[in-house]
Amino acid sequence: MTYHVRMQATDAALFWFRRDLRDEDNAGLSRALSAHSRVFCVFVFDTAILEGLAERADRRVEFIWHSVGMLRASLEARGGGLIVLHGPARQCIPELAHALGVVAVYANGDYEPAALARDQAVADALSARGMTFHAGKDQVIFEKRELLTGAGRPYTVFTPYRNAWRQALVPEMTAPWPMHFAALAPAPPGMERPLPTLESLGFTPTNLLSLGICPGMAGAQQLLEDFLPRLSQYALARDYPGRRGVSYLSVHLRFGTVSIRHLVRLALSQPDDGGQVWLNELVWRDFYFAILANFPYVATQAFRREYSRLAFDNSPTHFRAWQQGLTGYPIVDAGMRQLNQTGYMHNRLRMLTASFLVKDLGVDWRWGERYFADRLNDFDLAANNGGWQWCASTGCDAQPWFRMFNPVTQGRRVDPDGQFVRRYVPELAHVPTAALHAPWELSHQAQAAAGCVIGRDYPAPLVDHAQARSKTLRRYQREDRQPS
Ligand SMILES: Cc1cc2nc3c(=O)[nH]c(=O)nc-3n(C[C@H](O)[C@H](O)[C@H](O)COP(=O)(O)OP(=O)(O)OC[C@H]3O[C@@H](n4cnc5c(N)ncnc54)[C@H](O)[C@@H]3O)c2cc1C
Repeated sequence: MTYHVRMQATDAALFWFRRDLRDEDNAGLSRALSAHSRVFCVFVFDTAILEGLAERADRRVEFIWHSVGMLRASLEARGGGLIVLHGPARQCIPELAHALGVVAVYANGDYEPAALARDQAVADALSARGMTFHAGKDQVIFEKRELLTGAGRPYTVFTPYRNAWRQALVPEMTAPWPMHFAALAPAPPGMERPLPTLESLGFTPTNLLSLGICPGMAGAQQLLEDFLPRLSQYALARDYPGRRGVSYLSVHLRFGTVSIRHLVRLALSQPDDGGQVWLNELVWRDFYFAILANFPYVATQAFRREYSRLAFDNSPTHFRAWQQGLTGYPIVDAGMRQLNQTGYMHNRLRMLTASFLVKDLGVDWRWGERYFADRLNDFDLAANNGGWQWCASTGCDAQPWFRMFNPVTQGRRVDPDGQFVRRYVPELAHVPTAALHAPWELSHQAQAAAGCVIGRDYPAPLVDHAQARSKTLRRYQREDRQPS
């Protein structure tokens, strides 16, 4: 990218938006606005990321695209602007910073290995031209090594981490960052081009908006207004995918259209169980970020190295059936179809479907992790990896390997009236509730009466859970006995 104008050097700075698409309570933007008299803002549709996406119709790209447009409108209303680029960020940012004549570039820090490598490359390129790069904390309350055990090591067990988190928390940590908007600078002439279209970025529209997923800060606010009256019920309702029990804010946390500090303040202000239990979930999020930051090898390997040798069966046929929601286990299939159709999956079902893939089908957790990474609107390396390693029993503080979810009893527990299964597996719509989670147990005649003959209208179970369980126990037991 070439810029024709080289701006006069001032104490101006550039703020680079990434996974923090908001202009309220944004730590990095606040730091830049406080330290410089003029602050330009930029967002890069980074080809290094976009080219790696599996599908050209990707709800995340569309969510970002809308959110960037909304952010730009908000910055303009405050007297500033947003330069929007499309290219490799490693190159675009140093070139733009040079063209603008800024002395520094600010961003909010990231913890993913690829993002860290990109930031290092940008910092080096800026430094070679006499500019500095500042990337501080924004997306978590405690980061990296801020919370350590008495022995000075990062926590690897959640409960003591949570206790330390609660103890170390002081109100200033959740206070909103002040925003001195007077320093916001509009995009200079020639750089205030219209937002590139989704098509020009190489993508096609998805069903994002028709699903009712509202992007941007306004979308997050709308969800919060819907959730806050339900927060006191969260502890009870969160386990039932058929009910509106959770916040659905994960995609907004992922792209920073809502501030984590704001959510923690709201959780703390709720005196009953709901607020406490929800806060716990937000702490899990911090915990997995810290695990990824302190043990980056988890991105590709088992946290517990003794489990890196697990010999999985890795049947491509089984894997495909799981992806398509055709395993013959209704609750698993409903979860996978929810993911495929909406890009969201309820937490309980992420646990069940992940456990089923690894422990019932004997497929490597990394295959499933990758599939979720391609499909989840809220895909986040730290949380996704943490969740998969928890289910596969390879992670820190994970589900013990000998504990396996039974997809039938779990289905009956989390979807007792079958409302959720019927929504996503319409083949089973007329199966009586008592048989819904194990429809193969119905007589042939009863199956025909319900309009769902197993093997014709809906698959027979891919594996027998009891047999799969024994096989898995042997698989893990073998590794457990090996000296590491
Ligand atoms: C196998 C597996 C994969 C997962 N992959 C992701 C992922 O890629 N991205 C993601 O954000 N979450 C992931 N989770 C965690 C969790 O399922 C989602 O955060 C949650 O379902 C999002 O819905 P919600 O916003 O309504 O959550 P709520 O129940 O309202 O919780 C509020 C917020 O807390 C955080 N949170 C909740 N549970 C967890 C958790 N177990 N770990 C970390 N953070 C949590 C999320 O940011 C969430 O938005 C995964 C869990 C599992 C078991």
